[in-house]
Amino acid sequence: MDGAPARQQRIDVTYTCGECGADNQIKPREPIRCKDCGYRIMYKKRTKRMVQFEAR
Ligand SMILES: [Zn+2]
Repeated sequence: MDGAPARQQRIDVTYTCGECGADNQIKPREPIRCKDCGYRIMYKKRTKRMVQFEAR
């Protein structure tokens, strides 16, 4: 009986850099910018929802 953090929502969206093609996980509050080359135009990859269910 433990309280699983059910409200924990990770909405990290993976963006692909338009310059070097690196994948960047950017949170909604963070500015969109490639951490590799600093390019600012990034393409949204398919939204990957990380749903964490606690398997007993
Ligand atoms: Zn880049």
